[in-house]
Amino acid sequence: MKKINRKNFLKKSVLGTVALSTVAAACNAESATSTDGVPAINTGKKYRWKMVTTWPPNYPIIGEGLEEMAKWIEAMSGGRMKIKVYGGGELVPPLESFDAVSSGTAEMGHGGAYYWAGKAPAAQFFASVPFGMNAQQMNAWLISGGGMALWRELYAKFNLVPFSCGNTGVQMGGWFNKEINSLADLQGLKMRIPGFGGKVFAKAGGSPVLAAGSELYTSLERGVIDATEWIGPFHDYKMGFQDIAKYYYAPGWHEAGTNLELFVNKPKFDALPKDLQMIIETAAARYNIWMLSEIEAQNNLYLDKLIKEKNIDIRYFPDEVLDQLRVYTDEILAEITASDPFAKKVYASYDAFRNRAKNWAAVTEKVFYNKLQK
Ligand code: CA
Repeated sequence: MKKINRKNFLKKSVLGTVALSTVAAACNAESATSTDGVPAINTGKKYRWKMVTTWPPNYPIIGEGLEEMAKWIEAMSGGRMKIKVYGGGELVPPLESFDAVSSGTAEMGHGGAYYWAGKAPAAQFFASVPFGMNAQQMNAWLISGGGMALWRELYAKFNLVPFSCGNTGVQMGGWFNKEINSLADLQGLKMRIPGFGGKVFAKAGGSPVLAAGSELYTSLERGVIDATEWIGPFHDYKMGFQDIAKYYYAPGWHEAGTNLELFVNKPKFDALPKDLQMIIETAAARYNIWMLSEIEAQNNLYLDKLIKEKNIDIRYFPDEVLDQLRVYTDEILAEITASDPFAKKVYASYDAFRNRAKNWAAVTEKVFYNKLQK
């Protein structure tokens, strides 16, 4: 009786038959078709990949998160793809990660695009520039405002495919042992502040110092440097700066929302089955929102600790200082875009988006912070 009913049903339901056959074929065959029509060939082949990073091994939040991301990729792929994460220096030195993935020594890497400004000046727009966009605006520009296409175009020249993969949120301005009341207070000040921010600081008369994270506490304690920036309350607390510096300055004018990156060797990525490509893309997107949430939660907790348990004095850079740092930033941006056509093209997109985002924020988030959540 059941058999007859089923036969009749199948005869009547042509659509149903077609649908069932398609599903059966997809399940039986080794290939299926993904939603956008690109073949997703699951040959059952296993991939064992290496990820090099610019961070110390298992670095809080950032490195720990990458270990988690490797687990997500393994679980989503049913074990077909396993990724071993290497801290900076474990397989290659941290700042050789880009070249290692470009050449295929490792299949993927994690870092910040501004580390590669020496190879491609335009790269820093995909991480952070002083007085730039915050995390929400960076994500909007990259995901929905045309930024990602430019980033892909730039990295293709280096045999890489980039993905947004984490954001530090707005950082703090750094730890000082003297007050900054005017530009004169920056003259000759030895501060650890890397990259673009360091160049701006030098134009303002300061003396930027390059120092690895591991040396910062001792350098500040012994007076080798007068000041240092790092990230925000959570990571800075772990470094112990609150025990050796008097003032914690806001805001992090040089890093308003630094976007982190996953970069994958392009030929190896292009050769992956479509489903594994999407699994990597999806894992990076999950890491992106996870890191921003985690760092927001830890920073607001540790700011509380710094103020209530350590009596840390939060200070703000005077407007006069910030206004002049902005002028120097614009001068350096003009130099970069005049000498590198691709940087000019990326900055045009970045700047147009930032201006619109600024106007939108002026009637929404700025009002929210100033009037509603005060
Ligand atoms: Ca920083």
